[in-house]
Amino acid sequence: MTADFVLEIYNDAENGVDVVSLQKDNPAGSRDPVLCRIQLDCIHHIFHDDDCDCREQIKATLDLIGQCGKPGLLLYIRPRDPERTDPKKGEEKKLYDAAAHVLTRLGIKSVDLLSLDYGKAEALKDCGITVAKSLWPDGTVVRLGRRYSRIADKIDNGSAESPVPQSDSKPCRVLIVGDLNIDKLRTRSPAVGGSGFFPAVAFQKETEICEPVVFGKIGDDEHGRMIENQLRSNKIWSTLGTHPTKKSGYVKFVKSTGSENLHDYEWDTNNANDYDPKNLEQAIKLLVLGDQDYVYLSSYMFVQKNYNLEKIAQILQLLSGSGARVILDLTRMTFEAGVQREASTTFDKEAFSNLLGKNPVHCVICQKEVLETIGYKVNAEDKKTLEPVHKATGASWLILRYKHDMKRVLSVSQRYENRMINHTTLMLQAPITKPKAGMSDRMVVRVLKGIIDMDRANRL
Ligand SMILES: [Zn+2]
Repeated sequence: MTADFVLEIYNDAENGVDVVSLQKDNPAGSRDPVLCRIQLDCIHHIFHDDDCDCREQIKATLDLIGQCGKPGLLLYIRPRDPERTDPKKGEEKKLYDAAAHVLTRLGIKSVDLLSLDYGKAEALKDCGITVAKSLWPDGTVVRLGRRYSRIADKIDNGSAESPVPQSDSKPCRVLIVGDLNIDKLRTRSPAVGGSGFFPAVAFQKETEICEPVVFGKIGDDEHGRMIENQLRSNKIWSTLGTHPTKKSGYVKFVKSTGSENLHDYEWDTNNANDYDPKNLEQAIKLLVLGDQDYVYLSSYMFVQKNYNLEKIAQILQLLSGSGARVILDLTRMTFEAGVQREASTTFDKEAFSNLLGKNPVHCVICQKEVLETIGYKVNAEDKKTLEPVHKATGASWLILRYKHDMKRVLSVSQRYENRMINHTTLMLQAPITKPKAGMSDRMVVRVLKGIIDMDRANRL
């Protein structure tokens, strides 16, 4: 706690509860909206166990109230007979009403409510209190894991709203599922990177259409905190799990010249980026993804799952089950890197078309060389050679990255109702003269913006 709080206890006989209020800067009778959190009693506070996130919520909201520069309060609601007012039995309304009565008694007419619950806001409104839009106490970071399942379930069953707000300027969201790691370059200090980080930055910078939300897992270590802080300071929403034992991912650039050498990089494959299906399910619930939304999936997931088809299919099913359209980025490194060579070569054309045949995607992004590794001979100039890739993946869109030509970066082909209807080689001038980390992702996102625009136009 960074500020002085005054503690008061109210007895609400009518609703059978005690309300503990922690007030900062005397909010009673305030003319301006008061920052307010309503917290229900929870036994897990006392035992410090992992069953819920109440302790963290209380700490985060007290910090926020302490720093907000205006009056605020936390109302802690404690039923006298917990048996009779078990929140799980849908008796929350009584508890929220008790909070509303305390606010009324304090002469507070307007609040900024720190909550995602529809029920809390409704109870206050019923008592004539003006309720401003709810805020997420942890900035743009949403935690994943067992103790956050309560909030995920509430959002899933429609009693609370998603912490990631729907914005008017960005009518859809893109859940980015990729690696989060630290790039250790020889000449520079370690920087945040990875197949999850760069597309997120690109979406944030290049398009007004999609709000990027990162899904990933970090280690409980210095690098993990660097990754989290970088996402926060870029104002990129993230749904993050923390691995209890594994370290945050890192990529070490062993040699900075001769980029054709496949041993230029090294990394610990046993890192925190485990694409945990339970966490992914939770993130999908928390975001309430719909058919207007997208998922951007990097094939680094294939590496983490050691090219195990069942495990990859499980993730693909979860993603397409969300209703969102899946964009699959087949990254060259995941198929060619020395350390992965053995596993990735068993991942052949047949495995690929089986996998994607059962879990079709909306768009595939890849380099010609990746398709060749899998077993497809393609020529970007000849659309007939692209047809089998469209068929195997079910993709309406195929974006080919050119490896060496920085001016002619991408080729796009479109398939609609079983026929190729469009094939364009896009001439995109690189915005900077030297190739730089994340630049090709920005190129791809520019093309995706066009695709998303067309998808929207087709739906309207
Ligand atoms: Zn709790």
